[in-house]
Amino acid sequence: MQRRYLAVTIGLGILSLACQDALSPRPPELRPPTKVSRTMQALAPVTANLPVTGGSTVFIVNWPYREGVQVARTYSGLTYIASDPRNAPLIRFYTGNVDYRGIHVDGVWQFCAIAASIRSRGTDAPGAGACPATDPSQISSYSDTAIVGDSVFGVRSAKVPEYPGDCAPSASCYAYSGSTTLALTPLAADLDLRGGANGKVGKALYVPTFTHQNGYANIMFTDSALPRERPFQALSWNWHKVDPSAPPDSYWGSTDVNGQCPTRSLPLYTSNLCSLNVKEAGWLVSVARVNGLSHTDSVSVECAEDSLLDNPNIRADLIAALQASDNANPQLRRERGGWIMQDTLTKAYFSVPDTVANASATDCNIAPTNMIVPGADQVGYYHTHPHQAPDSAWSCLDPVTHQPFGHKVMVNPKLGGGGSAGDWSMATQGWPQYIISLHGEDFKLPETSGNWTQAQKDANPNRWWWKKGHGLCTWAAAANL
Ligand SMILES: [Zn+2]
Repeated sequence: MQRRYLAVTIGLGILSLACQDALSPRPPELRPPTKVSRTMQALAPVTANLPVTGGSTVFIVNWPYREGVQVARTYSGLTYIASDPRNAPLIRFYTGNVDYRGIHVDGVWQFCAIAASIRSRGTDAPGAGACPATDPSQISSYSDTAIVGDSVFGVRSAKVPEYPGDCAPSASCYAYSGSTTLALTPLAADLDLRGGANGKVGKALYVPTFTHQNGYANIMFTDSALPRERPFQALSWNWHKVDPSAPPDSYWGSTDVNGQCPTRSLPLYTSNLCSLNVKEAGWLVSVARVNGLSHTDSVSVECAEDSLLDNPNIRADLIAALQASDNANPQLRRERGGWIMQDTLTKAYFSVPDTVANASATDCNIAPTNMIVPGADQVGYYHTHPHQAPDSAWSCLDPVTHQPFGHKVMVNPKLGGGGSAGDWSMATQGWPQYIISLHGEDFKLPETSGNWTQAQKDANPNRWWWKKGHGLCTWAAAANL
């Protein structure tokens, strides 16, 4: 892409028409919607001390989740056994340390005595039955992972069998000491909600504009765990409209998450999938239990506008720039601009503020400067139009003297297809111009508009509404405005 120094003064404009927007109250503050935090979290680890006493049981924890909890299980510590040689055939006469797997008992018994195991849902593992048939092992600490659930116990297998009097006068042929420490460390996890439509899967989906003709967008929302192997169970589904007051289509109506993706209560379970007919811009919020903890995640669904604008970060950046432009005093509003860049490796879009231009911008004028970001290409320029009829019609400041101009400025963004003469000129230098107005619209002035007539510019088809009150396609980034 060509890079040239830009010295275009943008903004001097066109005579105004009255605009109803000035009658509506100005929001006290513009801000993008709260982002759902995504953090890997884990249940607190639990430990229990299992005595060497044969047949003993110790309660470790109750995790009443049907999908279970994936844990690292650790058995640590050695127990000690001392054998009377008169009973040697049973255990091959052994005196020394024994790890969690215990000691093998020969003869008719054939089992592991004093082996430690963790019992969850009727399953013992590892431990009982796994002891070496030869000498006992002495692993001081052993770990594996497993999915456990409900009441979890540490269980010690039986002591070495013996007959009374085998080692008389001693009461027993064996002496035991020590214990095994059992630790269950739940593994960290997070919820990962994705939405899929038209072959694309992601956390921000862009679908055809919600019109009577287009109908709705069927989207499959899918809960998953991060990492994928962690167990999870959906708890609830909720749909939030970006603009709850927007009138729904008279035929299609509104998104019905309760009808299509019901949140169930026990003994029924909420489905981990939600196939939803989405009928207005909004976002789905899923609450799911992942590895024993409740997590929240969301996926936004918005109307497709343009390849650069169909990006949650770019939309949020443009709304934030508009927020920075605004001021209760129209004379103190300032245009804000910046470049939309594309990372040459990841191809991801991002924006950078044009700090030089912003420093000298007025409420109706900004002079873009060239910016080189290593590893990225310039793909577009954006700036804000914070002036609105009629309050700025008299206040547009001279870029040099910062005194009010003596003439009116472009205050109706419908004129000129959203851009001033300077804006259209800038568009022909190689990069599309994106303009977002406090009035509520956003525009693209295409870089291919060099030969457009004024009538074609006036009829610029690349115009959309980011703001509430203008249909079903309000930007999610403007949900709190
Ligand atoms: Zn402009």
